[in-house]
Amino acid sequence: PTMAHSQALLVLENFIGGKFVPCSSYIDSYNPSTGDVYCRVPDSGKEEVEAAVKAAKDAFPVWSSKSPLERSQILNKLADLIEHDLEEFAQAESKDQGKTITFARTVDIPRAVHNFRFFASSILHHVTECTEMPAMGCVHYTSRTPVGVAGLISPWNLPLYLLTWKIAPAIACGNTVVAKPSEMTSVTAWMMCKLLGKAGVPPGVVNVVFGTGVKAGEALVCHPDVPLISFTGSTLTAQRITERSAPHCKRLSLELGGKNPAIIFDDADLSQCIPTTVRSSFANQGEICLCTSRIFVQRGIYSEFLKRFVAEAKKWKTGNPSDPTVDVGALISKEHLEKVRNYVKKAQAEGARVLCGEGVDPVALPPGNQKGYFMLPTVIAEVKDESCCMQEEIFGPVTCVVAFDTEEEVIKRANSVKYGLAATVWSSNVGRVHRVAHRLQSGLVWTNCWLVRDLNLPFGGMKASGIGREGAKDSYEFFTEVKTITIKH
Ligand code: NAD
Repeated sequence: PTMAHSQALLVLENFIGGKFVPCSSYIDSYNPSTGDVYCRVPDSGKEEVEAAVKAAKDAFPVWSSKSPLERSQILNKLADLIEHDLEEFAQAESKDQGKTITFARTVDIPRAVHNFRFFASSILHHVTECTEMPAMGCVHYTSRTPVGVAGLISPWNLPLYLLTWKIAPAIACGNTVVAKPSEMTSVTAWMMCKLLGKAGVPPGVVNVVFGTGVKAGEALVCHPDVPLISFTGSTLTAQRITERSAPHCKRLSLELGGKNPAIIFDDADLSQCIPTTVRSSFANQGEICLCTSRIFVQRGIYSEFLKRFVAEAKKWKTGNPSDPTVDVGALISKEHLEKVRNYVKKAQAEGARVLCGEGVDPVALPPGNQKGYFMLPTVIAEVKDESCCMQEEIFGPVTCVVAFDTEEEVIKRANSVKYGLAATVWSSNVGRVHRVAHRLQSGLVWTNCWLVRDLNLPFGGMKASGIGREGAKDSYEFFTEVKTITIKH
């Protein structure tokens, strides 16, 4: 960047013990839609993590002894403050991540607000267990207490949304936290820190340390005074976190990648199914762990589906994320764009057909976005199930469409990947929907819809898609220690 540029750079600071603290070194952060450096993010390490853990430990006794109602009121206040600044947060999220302003306005930031409101409410309604043993003269009951300092590590695709999905239940339960957002998307977390004091969150209850995974993230994972880690990110990183935390026997919640199938039977209502499956494939540039990337279509409707699906995908407009008419923004980074493009090249080399998007259609970008990391929604057909495009998580605007004949066959093929996060099933036969949903190896199954969530219910993946579940009851259980107490009278 030029001098003029560097003066205008946004510089973030860590938030430790209720104060913003500068760091000794910084990392450049790019605006994905222009390719320019626009922000500097602290490159924190052991020292910063140590200070944040200490602040969190110091704040724990007072925060953990507050009543759920007191904590609930503070969480609601924080939700109100973020909602008040919703537009500012949405603009920042779009600029930092490359996602469209529309997505940030309607999904990311409203959900971050909702995360705080939801856990502010749900924390008031938990009931612990009690059993009686009259013959022994005993009653047993369980009591739940906060665990301590929670380490929270989140990815770049839904920055504030996923970070608050961890912070809200953790602090609602009475824990204090040290959070580390992705180094690529740190701005909205930093903006939220500015509101914590005003909401009444005491200093040290929420600490945010910015930096890379290998430096700041690992320092948090290896810290002996952080007994639990809630992580959302890739399966590869989760393996490393598991290894690093093993010597401390930490409690882990791991929300990881997916290779999510959509199964479309010949009795599906295509007028609903096609636009929803385009959305489930390409929303947020395909950078959602729940995005569809393998579409199995029953043979009788395969050609019709393909024709209508490609036509619908082509309607999605790619361009400047801050333009409210744009559907597809920029991918997170140059490296990621290259990785996603390479998958399409590999599929072609294997003999698959690219029906639209990458390498097939021209990309028309505004002058200011020529250096941005853009890619058109891409549909690939005639891909083999063993192909890397059908097995590995691509995490971009690429989806594969293949044909199937029978229910039995498609269940087997849908389950033939290492992941098991989310699946969608399209059919108007309710018996079939139940049968198939039951047999899919997937933490979530949506039938005749996608991304409809009730936060009360468990969220999480099977197989390589994760360990543990999050949701009203699940998060409460994860973020508390349970004790069984027996009283003899
Ligand atoms: P990533 O694993 O590279 O990084 C996630 C976070 O972990 C970042 O904050 C990163 O800095 C940190 N990190 C990296 N290495 C670390 C280490 N050695 N120790 C501690 N922390 C470390 O993932 P990403 O590329 O940011 O995100 C994309 C991935 O996240 C995809 O695989 C996607 O499917 C997954 N994801 C899953 C869910 C879910 O709920 N299951 C939701 C969103 C994203």
